[in-house]
Amino acid sequence: SFPKRVTLLGSTGSIGTQALDVIRSQPGRFTVTALSAHSNAELLIQQAREFRPAAVVIGDEAKYETVKAALASQPETEVLAGAAALADVAGRDDADVVLTAMVGYAGLLPTVRAIRAGKTIALANKETLVVAGQLITDLVKQHGVGLYPVDSEHSAIFQCLVGEEQNPIEKIILTASGGPFRGCSREQLAQVTKAQALKHPNWDMGAKITIDSASLMNKGLEVIEAKWLFDLRNDQIEVIVHPQSIVHSLVQFEDGSLKAQLGLPDMKLPIQYALGYPQRLPNTFPRFSFLDYPKLTFEQADTSAFRNLGLAFEAMSRAGNAPCILNAANEIAVAAFLRDEIGFLQMSDVVESSLARVSYLATPTLDDYVQTDYETRRIARELVGQA
Ligand code: NDP
Ligand code: MG
Repeated sequence: SFPKRVTLLGSTGSIGTQALDVIRSQPGRFTVTALSAHSNAELLIQQAREFRPAAVVIGDEAKYETVKAALASQPETEVLAGAAALADVAGRDDADVVLTAMVGYAGLLPTVRAIRAGKTIALANKETLVVAGQLITDLVKQHGVGLYPVDSEHSAIFQCLVGEEQNPIEKIILTASGGPFRGCSREQLAQVTKAQALKHPNWDMGAKITIDSASLMNKGLEVIEAKWLFDLRNDQIEVIVHPQSIVHSLVQFEDGSLKAQLGLPDMKLPIQYALGYPQRLPNTFPRFSFLDYPKLTFEQADTSAFRNLGLAFEAMSRAGNAPCILNAANEIAVAAFLRDEIGFLQMSDVVESSLARVSYLATPTLDDYVQTDYETRRIARELVGQA
């Protein structure tokens, strides 16, 4: 029922700002309870002035005074700083839905807090399900909360499953754009630059996920995300490259029937669906026309040139803390690539070596995940230094 009170974590990012566009375009349906940024104080202040939330959190504590001073004339908005405050705000009882739009492992603890507090989760932060899928899905069941995907592929599958609760899934097919380097050989990938990797053909996203899309790690993370969201065995998940990004993913049922969801590549639709669920809200987003896309094409992913996809499947099969290791090593590798410290192909080397070196745990607790993340970052940084 509306209005829904939304806490938006990572409000200054690509998903965060588009979520605010959605909220702005649906007057009367949503109110904003809390907003958070990591270091972009300026945009956070501007958003706080417009949406007048009960709280804002700036991750970088050095920027607390700036935000506090700027919002001094707005006493209804409490200003907080740091990672612990972010987790606290995620669990406050003045929100209905928590949209997790922060990037990376930093999403884990706030998401755990929000679930424990009984919040509906609109999940953009896929890393949380990659790192601790078993733990998160157990918590979701235990607390009886809704967990609705924002990721476009998973939103597609989720939408295809509405009304199919009685019908087992035979398999799902995740579509992948292939990114800017689709068709490149290993030799070519060895030469690609940061600037080329940051130019995605179909989507305008934050830097980390854009690099993940170029390296196919994003699809690997999405495979693991899908396993947990839809309770699938590993052999029920397939990936197909679809460069136009119109078919957002498919489900195949036991009678062989395939259902897909289609649309223009625009994250506002899956964001709106997750926030509005179970209701579809009317909007004026641009509509898809087949005449603009006379050819929709599909091809096999090249897993020998793009090793990350295979590494993600391998981490998923090993289970336990292996996906957590994969994720942490990848975060360090992507950050190093963005600082020009390692080349494009070396990102997979860092991930592969980290998987081999960090101690394996078959049934990790939340503390074990925190420890694994910490340990992996240390080892991955070492590997970056040697590269
Ligand atoms: P961005 O980099 O654009 O934004 C990230 C947001 O998180 C910003 O608000 C940023 O604050 C904040 N943030 C950064 N680091 C931290 C931290 N350590 N702790 C808390 N908050 C932090 O990312 P995207 O919006 O592209 O992606 C967000 C999530 O959504 C990711 O998990 C991504 O995989 C997922 N996603 C994104 C899609 C997209 O189209 N962008 C599509 C599908 C999934 P600041 O601005 O101050 O740095
Ligand atoms: Mg996606």
